[in-house]
Amino acid sequence: MNKVQAKDRIKKLKALIEEYRYHYHVLDESIMSDEAADSLKHELSQLENQYPDLITPDSPTQRIAGQSLPGFKSVSHKERMISLNDAFSNQEVKSWQERIIKLIDNTKLEYFVDIKMDGLACALVYEDGQLFQGITRGDGFVGEDVTANIRTIESIPLKLRKSQKYQYMLKGRTEIRGEIIMYKKDFDELNKKRKKQGLAEFANPRNTAAGTIRQLDPSLVASRKLYFRAYDLIKDDHQVSSNSEVYQILKELGFLVNDMSKVCHSLDEVFNFANDWQVKRQSLPFNTDGLVIKINDKEIYQKLGVVGKAPRAAIAYKYAAEQATTKLLDILVSIGRTGTATPVAMLQPVTIAGTTVQMATLHNEGEIHRKDIRIGDTVIVHKAGDIIPEVIEPIIKLRSGQEKVFRMPKNCPDCGQPLAKYAKDDAAWRCMNKDCQSRIWKRIEHYASKESLDIEGLGEKNVISLLDAGLIKDQADIYILKEVQVAKLERFGKLSANKLIEAIRAKKRPDLNRFIYGLGIRHVGVQTAIDLANYFKNIEALSLANIDQLKKVEGIGDVVAESIVEWFAEPSNKSLLDKFKKQGVWPKTAYQINGPLKDTKIVITGSLKSMLREEAAEAIRLLGGTFQGSVGKDTDILVVADKTGSSKIKKANELGIKQITEDEFIKMIS
Ligand code: ZN
Repeated sequence: MNKVQAKDRIKKLKALIEEYRYHYHVLDESIMSDEAADSLKHELSQLENQYPDLITPDSPTQRIAGQSLPGFKSVSHKERMISLNDAFSNQEVKSWQERIIKLIDNTKLEYFVDIKMDGLACALVYEDGQLFQGITRGDGFVGEDVTANIRTIESIPLKLRKSQKYQYMLKGRTEIRGEIIMYKKDFDELNKKRKKQGLAEFANPRNTAAGTIRQLDPSLVASRKLYFRAYDLIKDDHQVSSNSEVYQILKELGFLVNDMSKVCHSLDEVFNFANDWQVKRQSLPFNTDGLVIKINDKEIYQKLGVVGKAPRAAIAYKYAAEQATTKLLDILVSIGRTGTATPVAMLQPVTIAGTTVQMATLHNEGEIHRKDIRIGDTVIVHKAGDIIPEVIEPIIKLRSGQEKVFRMPKNCPDCGQPLAKYAKDDAAWRCMNKDCQSRIWKRIEHYASKESLDIEGLGEKNVISLLDAGLIKDQADIYILKEVQVAKLERFGKLSANKLIEAIRAKKRPDLNRFIYGLGIRHVGVQTAIDLANYFKNIEALSLANIDQLKKVEGIGDVVAESIVEWFAEPSNKSLLDKFKKQGVWPKTAYQINGPLKDTKIVITGSLKSMLREEAAEAIRLLGGTFQGSVGKDTDILVVADKTGSSKIKKANELGIKQITEDEFIKMIS
């Protein structure tokens, strides 16, 4: 970006961030997520770093946070209310630990970890056990006296509870620090009420709690349910031994503290706690965006002191944001295995939730036009956990005028055949050509995927490489691959070729449900495949089922039933199944309970010529029989495949057990 472009971009960013700030802090509304706004602020500060002469005093990057409002008395904090430095990764926490170890020369550190509450920090001053004053954090040195307001919060004791062990806390000045928060459910109820009354809804619980505490009318504060959770105390001339003891004292004095807080003896333990709560935090009554990690020992904590604005001995561990803003460079169309044409956003690479995102789904053409997403737009991208990243919306105010409207291509970008829809009101366009290369490789990739047959080494790139080399044309062909052929390909060495062939061979007798899912029948997901397997027991029965029979399976309606019947009626699919069978690839059948071999116990001695031992065992079980490893009194039949030196034959002779040849056995099971 040149300077002229940067100047224009900075102007737009400043205007939009100012708009966001005004709505958020003044009107209590939100025009975008905090995370998206942070992402824009980050872009602004980067541009300003690049062109420092473009920084103006009114830039949002020049704002000093937390100045006190007129209307409340300003009060100086006796001890500065410091903020914590942030760590965004395990590596940053490790670096923090290394710095501390260097300073204190002690490697046996204990860590006190707690959930970081997303609220308003506040200090409560008690004189001889009586609540005297409540002060907001403000800029850390000076806050606002909000005593009248915080007195309405029920979880704040007006008088400290008597404590035998900590009697001295009730004498003189005792300061308790903590967070004023609004619970998620109370926030939702409040917004519901406001909506009914025709009032604007609030943006989020933290903002609402902060806004409420700064209301000049205490009765309004009392009407909103706020909570205070304590996390620190300050008492002159008295040294508490550890941060975990601080929590003990706070509890004894009658405060609400976070019960999930914990002493950890290593950083690994801390990281486990963090991972655990990354998921579980949804179930907390309040919002959190991370943890607070403190050195537990108070003496070490004090010794480490303060550097800049933050204590050395504590750090805030932030969970990665799940949204960011970036530029939409282009929109390509990707053809799925059932032919669905999905528009895919090609993005300027951006880090979200710890991973680099370059592509995101745009779902379908209708969605793009409904949201008015254009090529060249700045867009908000969302990614959480394992889900596919998606484009949430464009930021229209940041447009330069160069953006282009997306048009769905008329033809498949791969095979060139016209795209079509099954029905007029279908959201998706499709490539109807079953032999389209894109569809073929996605079918094969799907067949090998984790939820299908779970064949390692058959991801997108390897499948394409095998297809390009002409070694395979469909899913069944993977079973005839030879190690020498594969090893010649650029992507495979001898070792990985061997590994791939082994991985494929190991999956010749897949579970029925995985096989059904792996066929890639439209509308048949993982659960439907399980339901079908449980109901039909084997693939033959499923392939012959008509619509009425299919609809007897719970959860299957007309659309799915039709799709299944259609799939098995298709000649190319019939020949695919034949091909599988010829190569000895066939799903296991759900065991027959009343088969012809019911209650029959069979032992095999020697190697069979016509099948593997496991296959024979499977065949016996399918017919209701039991496959035994050794001859015993209860054995019914011994299959003699190989007569040389078998102790099993000797034992069978002794016990008078029936013996049959391999040919007789084959006749019996077929
Ligand atoms: Zn195509």
